[in-house]
Amino acid sequence: MTTKQKAIKIYEQLKKLYPDSECTLYHDGDPWKLLVMARLSAQCTDARVNIVSKTLFEEIPDVYAMAEAPQERVEELVKSCGLYRTKAKSLREMSQQLIDNFDGKVPDDYDSLMSLSGVGSKIANLILGDVFGKGGIVADTHCIRITNRLGLVKSTNQTIVERTLSPIVPKEVQSDFCHMIVDFGRDVCTARNPRCHECPMKENKLCKGN
Ligand code: SF4
Repeated sequence: MTTKQKAIKIYEQLKKLYPDSECTLYHDGDPWKLLVMARLSAQCTDARVNIVSKTLFEEIPDVYAMAEAPQERVEELVKSCGLYRTKAKSLREMSQQLIDNFDGKVPDDYDSLMSLSGVGSKIANLILGDVFGKGGIVADTHCIRITNRLGLVKSTNQTIVERTLSPIVPKEVQSDFCHMIVDFGRDVCTARNPRCHECPMKENKLCKGN
């Protein structure tokens, strides 16, 4: 079995486990909101980001309001997400860049997204996949750990994981694949004490167990 065939089999197993898996950041389909929430999620839980964003978007509902918002006020609003000074600064800068360079809209190509303040490949791929349906591997901590355990990847380097998975996971399911991997990493293939004894990957000979 090639790695590509294996990746597809893994995808099929994940789909059985998590047929309704979706992004755990609640963004109402608004690309700018997802961009903001993804930036806030660095070293913070999605649950915390969802709580903080609710209040944030009530007061600062769009790209124009964010670009004009005082730094101190944004800091206060995002404080509980951690790294709040840096995050507030990049949210304001990124919003101003969107207004100056992209007519206030979130661009739909990788290089333009990567030109925005605070945006790295993880966020760019999340936006490309979830908002624009163009696919994108979001190599977060769950994705890196699990794809290594499953033998799809042999590196913990985020860029290498993205580049390795990108050609073997079909583009149209990349976004879905990454969301399901997060669910799988939270309740079966956990960082510590993975539940190998009841894992369908082991049962279907796609993983030897950890
Ligand atoms: S068998 Fe264990 S290590 Fe392998 S994917 Fe399942 S839970 Fe993770």
